[in-house]
Amino acid sequence: MKNLLSETGIKEVNIFRSIFVAIVYFFITMTSSGQDVNNLKLKDFRPVSIYNIPVTNVAKAKYPVIDMHTHVYAMKDEDIAKWIKAMDACGIEKSIVLTQASGAGFDTLVKMYSRYGNRFELWCGFDYTGYDKPGYGPEAVKELERCVKKGAKGVGEVMFKGKGIPPSSSNKVIMLPDDPRLDILYEKCAGLGIPVNLHISEDKWMYEKIDSTNDGLMNAAKWHVGSEYGAKSHEEMLDRLENTLKKHPKTTFIAAHLANCCADLSVLGDFFDKYPNLFADISARYGEIAPIPKFVREFIEKYQDRIVYGTDNFFNEKFYRVTFRILETADEHFYETEMFAYHWPLYGLYLTDNVLKKMYRDNANKIRNR
Ligand SMILES: [Zn+2]
Repeated sequence: MKNLLSETGIKEVNIFRSIFVAIVYFFITMTSSGQDVNNLKLKDFRPVSIYNIPVTNVAKAKYPVIDMHTHVYAMKDEDIAKWIKAMDACGIEKSIVLTQASGAGFDTLVKMYSRYGNRFELWCGFDYTGYDKPGYGPEAVKELERCVKKGAKGVGEVMFKGKGIPPSSSNKVIMLPDDPRLDILYEKCAGLGIPVNLHISEDKWMYEKIDSTNDGLMNAAKWHVGSEYGAKSHEEMLDRLENTLKKHPKTTFIAAHLANCCADLSVLGDFFDKYPNLFADISARYGEIAPIPKFVREFIEKYQDRIVYGTDNFFNEKFYRVTFRILETADEHFYETEMFAYHWPLYGLYLTDNVLKKMYRDNANKIRNR
């Protein structure tokens, strides 16, 4: 009995000691801001640069800008007015709205946006009605011609994220970029002298294992492209882009988001070398290029006649200014985690004036007046 009591006593002491250690541990791991660092999640990591180095605020782009990649961010006059105000504040002279629409939907947008003179330019989408029935093509071409008469100055954004178009939630692969059913449409674009914006694949991080080794885990998990759902590989989609460029040399193509080749820009460089009908926009890829500024600067220098500015982001003065800081300044080691989600530090590319002028406006004018 005595022994049993003393054993119970030892157990109690041990329990109290464990509780005491846990409390001490809890307070030690709590930071002064009240965070428990041992359980800090990557998604909550918000480093603040500690370096005392130059910070440049670029309020307005150095040269007038055409934003080559936006969508229908406003459907009311007051919202369009806000968009124009942000454009004016930051030096954006025109926004190209990739509506992806045809038919009555496109006409509604024409009515809405044509009131704002030349601040906006609408591009339409292809009409996929009956794409799975024999004889698809001529009607879609007619609709394309009608949209152009209504004011469409290009086509886009045509989305081939892995399963093709039209978008579907099934595992079925539908039309891929080089599908013969699309030939007649691409050729008509050449005939009408209008460019086509293609979104091909996603960046390589999204195909890698979603685990602790994934360099871009924060976005990779969110935008993961799953072959288990029928999506084609990154490499296959790029091969199909190449087939498309080869098949339609007279059609001008703009690969959205640097053709999603940020992890290996040499693939895009190779396409630029082989296919003069290819251009690319840098929209929505600032977070991916700013961590490797020297390499990207050289790449943009080399292909300075082929790359255009774009945002693909709901209009926002802060967003415009961050893109200008990345393109124009030599600032180092800064974070825009809220904007791009990556935890990587960013660096300015410090592009030359000549390259900036081309990327901001001249190349866009060249494409739109080919
Ligand atoms: Zn887009």
